[in-house]
Amino acid sequence: MQLTWDTEDSWFDRTYELETDDGDTIEQFDGQPTLDKLRQAERQYGERINLWQAGLICSNCRSEINGRFAADPASSLLCWDCAMDSQGDTQNGLRVNTDPTKAVMSESQLHTKSLCDHVINVATGCRHGCKFCYVPTTPALEHREDMLNEQADVDDAQQDWGSYLLYRDDLPERLHQVLDERDPSERKQTDRGRGVVMLSSGTDCYQDRRAAQITRGCVKELIAHELPVRILTRSPAVVRDLDLFKQAGDLITVGSSIASLDTELVSAMEPNAPPPMARWEALDTLQQADVPVFVSMSPTYPGMDKYEIDNLLGHFSALGAEVVFHEPINPRGANFELCRAAAKDAGRDDIARTLETFANDHQAWVEYALKQINLVQRRATRYDNLNVHSWPDDQLIKATSGQLNQQLRAMQQAVSPEQFGSHSPKPDSSQAALTAETESVGHLL
Ligand code: SF4
Ligand SMILES: [Zn+2]
Repeated sequence: MQLTWDTEDSWFDRTYELETDDGDTIEQFDGQPTLDKLRQAERQYGERINLWQAGLICSNCRSEINGRFAADPASSLLCWDCAMDSQGDTQNGLRVNTDPTKAVMSESQLHTKSLCDHVINVATGCRHGCKFCYVPTTPALEHREDMLNEQADVDDAQQDWGSYLLYRDDLPERLHQVLDERDPSERKQTDRGRGVVMLSSGTDCYQDRRAAQITRGCVKELIAHELPVRILTRSPAVVRDLDLFKQAGDLITVGSSIASLDTELVSAMEPNAPPPMARWEALDTLQQADVPVFVSMSPTYPGMDKYEIDNLLGHFSALGAEVVFHEPINPRGANFELCRAAAKDAGRDDIARTLETFANDHQAWVEYALKQINLVQRRATRYDNLNVHSWPDDQLIKATSGQLNQQLRAMQQAVSPEQFGSHSPKPDSSQAALTAETESVGHLL
C-alpha cells in the first residue's frame, strides 16, 4: 500500500490517493491529509504507509517532506525544520511539542529485571505524572534540560513531570529503516532479556491517541521483523490494537502496572492515570482473546496486609497473567518525597509516616521490603497458575548476607516464565518465597 499523487497537480493543490501494490485506488484524500488521517488509514487497511517518500507537503513552509517529520497539535504535517521551530501548544495544562531526539530503539539494562534488551520510547514526558516515577531522574532527562526548556518551557524535569509531552511522530518510519539496515545478529540479546523490545519504559505508549498511533506503527514494524515485544501501559486504550496483538501470537506480551486496587491511593500517586480496575479490565479483554498478559505490581506501598495482597493476587490469577512482577517502594531520589506528600494529601497519614521513616532509617526499609517480597511470594503459592517474579533491589542485596543474600541474588538472576515464541526461558527460572509459611524473615536478617 502506498500514497501517491498526480505529478501534474500543482504543488499547492495535490490530491493524494492510497493505492494497493496492484495500483488499485482504495482511498482519496481531499487536500493534504493530516498525520491522524494517514495513521487511521494504516489502521483501517492493516498496512503501514512509508510517509518519507509520499510527496507530502509541510503545512507551514510548503516544502516537500522527504525525511524526518512531525505534526503540529492539530495533526497537520510539519517538515523537520518547521517542527524544530514550533513553539508547540498547551492542552489542558499539558505542554506538547516534538521530541528532537535521534534515538529509535535503545539498548536497555532492563534485562536485569527480565523485561527486555531494548526499549522504544514513543515520547519524552508522560501525562500520567506518577509521583514515584523514576524517569525524570534518569540521565535521559536530566541531561536534556536545555532541550526540554526550549521545546516545552520546562524549568525542572522532575518538578514539572506530568506537565510536558514531546512526541516522536516519525518513529515508525525511522524504526523501519533501522530494522532493515541493521544485521539482526548484531542486536543485543541476553539470557534474561531474550532480545525483547519493550514499549515503553520512559513514558506510557498508549496514553493518548497520538502516542498510540506511534506505538501501533512501531509494533507493526517489530512484528514484521519477528522481534519479541513487551508492551507496558497503564492505559485501557491498549485494547484498540487487539487485532495487531493477535497477529503477533506468542511473540508479544501486554502488561499493565497495578500495584493496588485502592482507587483513592492510586489516584493520589498516579494523578492522571486511569483507575486500576480499568487497567485490569483491559488486560482481561486481551487475555480472553488469547493475547499473553502480565502485570507489574510495582511499586507496592507499606501497610499492605495479607488480605490486600490476596485480593490483588486473586485478581491477577483470575486474569490468567503469565507473570506478576513485584517490587516494593524504594526510598531513593527526590520522587520519594513526592510520594510521601501525595499519601498525606490523600489522607493516608499511616503510609506518609511510614515513608518518612524509610527516608531516615534504611534498615526499617530493608526489613519492610524483605517482608513484603516474602509475603507476596508466599501468598502467591495459593494460586496454582500464578508466577510472581520479584525484583529485589541492589540496595536490599547489599544490606543482607549469608543465605538470605544468596536467595535474593538468585531471585535477581531468574528469568521470567514467559515464552516469546522460540525465545524461551532457561529451565531454572522460577523464584520462591524467602521463608516457609510459619517462619518470619526476621531470623534471616
Ligand atoms: S505511567 Fe510510567 S512513565 Fe508515565 S509517569 Fe507513570 S511510571 Fe512514569
Ligand atoms: Zn516546513
